[in-house]
Amino acid sequence: MTNTLTTDTARLPMLLTQLRLPTIARLWQALTETADRESWPAAKTLAALMEHEIAERARRRTARHLLEARLPVGKTLDRFDFTAVTSISKARVTALAEGDSWLDQGTNILLFGPPGVGKSHLAAALGHAMVDAGYRVLFTRTTDLVQQLQTARQELKLASAIEKLDKYHLLVLDDLSYVQKSQAETSVIFELISARYERRSILITANQPFGAWDAIFPDPAMTVAAIDRLVHHSIILEMNTDSYRRKSAEMKLRRKPIGPTAKTTLNEPSPTTVVS
Ligand code: ADP
Ligand code: MG
Repeated sequence: MTNTLTTDTARLPMLLTQLRLPTIARLWQALTETADRESWPAAKTLAALMEHEIAERARRRTARHLLEARLPVGKTLDRFDFTAVTSISKARVTALAEGDSWLDQGTNILLFGPPGVGKSHLAAALGHAMVDAGYRVLFTRTTDLVQQLQTARQELKLASAIEKLDKYHLLVLDDLSYVQKSQAETSVIFELISARYERRSILITANQPFGAWDAIFPDPAMTVAAIDRLVHHSIILEMNTDSYRRKSAEMKLRRKPIGPTAKTTLNEPSPTTVVS
């Protein structure tokens, strides 16, 4: 009997490798020692080992998803100061970060506001929260994605390029307003919006709400159709406030010893402090 047991145990590392259970392979010795010492029922030991494997898998999957999401580093919700943006309700954003039904329903989020108010930060923060919740996210500058899709179109691979983006439950298109109609064939965005309509979510940040969108899409009918699809199931957050960038630059200036020069700069922020 003892002999059989020893033989089985000796084969365990190989069996666990074959079954691709690296966490159990790493933990089984320590855990079974504890189980023997504390006379755990066999089922409890088995369950504990499985739980460890599952938890480690989830952790590694999230780490992989975080890497592929290309989210800007450090732009999380806990670093977002809601008191600086009174037009946004912290409770509403927290509910979006903690609830995933909007993603399951393919709901879009549209974040509008002038430069520097925290649109990209908030978009990234929601992306982070969704990755933590087990979803797949891609954060990209809209102009980068447009360029990529245009290349795909030239190679007659637009449909498959758009299909590949389907694996992302959430696509964050940062700075839609920077896309110019002059960039040939920006209608690739329209095709992307149409393909994801009512299935997969898009989060868009833009400086202007809709009014200036005819600069992006080649013809007015397409502009209307794109807005229509985006807005149909969407949550619109307007961030009408002063630039956080400028405010924090001014705060830094305020902390400096106030001399005549510093005072002048305070009242009239130099162009370099108002980067958008
Ligand atoms: P936008 O995308 O609207 O131009 P950003 O999200 O890039 O603005 O914000 C500019 C900078 O200010 C970033 O470093 C961002 O982290 C920071 N910031 C903006 N708003 C806030 C806020 N409410 N709380 C904390 N940091 C903020
Ligand atoms: Mg931005």
